[in-house]
Amino acid sequence: MKTITILGATGSIGDSTLDVVARNPERYRVHALTANRNVDKLLQLAQRHRPDVVAIADPAAAAGVAARLRAAGLTTRLAVGEDEVVAVAATPGIDCVMAAIVGAAGLAPTLAAARHSRAVMLANKEAIVMAGRLFIQTCRQSQVALLPIDSEHNALFQCLPASREAEGQDREQAVRRLILTASGGPFRTTPVAALDAVTPDQACAHPKWSMGRKISVDSATMMNKGLELIEAHYLFDMPAARLDVLIHPQSVVHSLVEYVDGSVLAQLGNPDMRVPIAHALGYPDRIASGASLLDLAAVGRLDFEAPDEARFPCLRIAREALHAGDGAPCVLNAANEVGVAQFLAGRIRFSDIARINQAVLEAMPQQRAPDSLEEAVDLDRRSRRRAMQQLERCHS
Ligand code: NAD
Ligand code: MG
Repeated sequence: MKTITILGATGSIGDSTLDVVARNPERYRVHALTANRNVDKLLQLAQRHRPDVVAIADPAAAAGVAARLRAAGLTTRLAVGEDEVVAVAATPGIDCVMAAIVGAAGLAPTLAAARHSRAVMLANKEAIVMAGRLFIQTCRQSQVALLPIDSEHNALFQCLPASREAEGQDREQAVRRLILTASGGPFRTTPVAALDAVTPDQACAHPKWSMGRKISVDSATMMNKGLELIEAHYLFDMPAARLDVLIHPQSVVHSLVEYVDGSVLAQLGNPDMRVPIAHALGYPDRIASGASLLDLAAVGRLDFEAPDEARFPCLRIAREALHAGDGAPCVLNAANEVGVAQFLAGRIRFSDIARINQAVLEAMPQQRAPDSLEEAVDLDRRSRRRAMQQLERCHS
């Protein structure tokens, strides 16, 4: 029996993870579940999965929860506040921690899990974008197993040679390119001129994946793929020049590894996050995920095309941040979180998100790469402030 903690249990990745866990009850026991403020859902999950601990980040949302846990006959301990979420993530010796908080809020707990648990399953891509070098160093020092959950990175992980340090040839000499596939999101064929008028609900209506609202907007701008390029750079230690993006509307091929001899290995499956989650949970074994099996005859055809950076400026901007290196990815991530939140709140237009990202990156060049959590939080905060100033210009 392995113990598992799920950071961000009430979200879309949390749902998929608990579904896979419930299908494999002989393998997993839930230690802790955390949420920001969705206490009704957290209580439902607690009744179903009977964790030792539940943690709520937002103290205002936690009122009455202890009594509701007791009324439900649970002995589950309640922890409240952001620091307590980090403390839960830092519980020593937990076998696996699913890092599925959305955005920069996930960095502190994810880093804590990287220091104290046995395996980190990384869905929270913003954390590695903000502080990639620090995060990878932390994982190496504490010898935690790092398993990618993002479907593209999980696919790459499955197609790459087992380990850089494995006997024989070094990965760098064997691999020519990593190719990340992208569905192209809901606006792949929308006329560019119409993008100014799209609504948050249209942006969140992803044609292939059902996800939280922040990542859905990122998929619509293709900033998601930009963040994933940066994520791949750190996870697989690959230079930007050897990372490519390919539009693939069916979302069946999840990514590809091109070797120097011309062989290309890909991982395929239906677009269902339970597949990469089950891969990581079972690793190195294979376990049931609940996903329907891929029927290629029914899919019929697989299409591929090059991405259009005029339509999706965020992809180009993310590449610029990756080339600039140092603190630029952290700056970009913060600007983008502000832009997406403002768009979802109906305060700016869809195409303003890219404008804010570009402007903040230009206004904050040559920032140091964060060497500590405090430095990452500070750079994130300064970049958000800059984005808010930029926003006022959007309005005026
Ligand atoms: P979601 O919005 O559905 O869920 C987010 C979770 O984070 C919730 O449990 C919420 O309570 C928690 N949370 C939010 N703000 C918090 C805060 N300030 N403090 C503590 N907890 C907080 O998001 P999601 O779609 O599940 O995505 C989670 C992460 O996984 C994101 O980083 C996303 O990019 C990544 N990811 C998601 C998918 C997907 O299919 N949903 C795929 C790949 C990667
Ligand atoms: Mg992805």
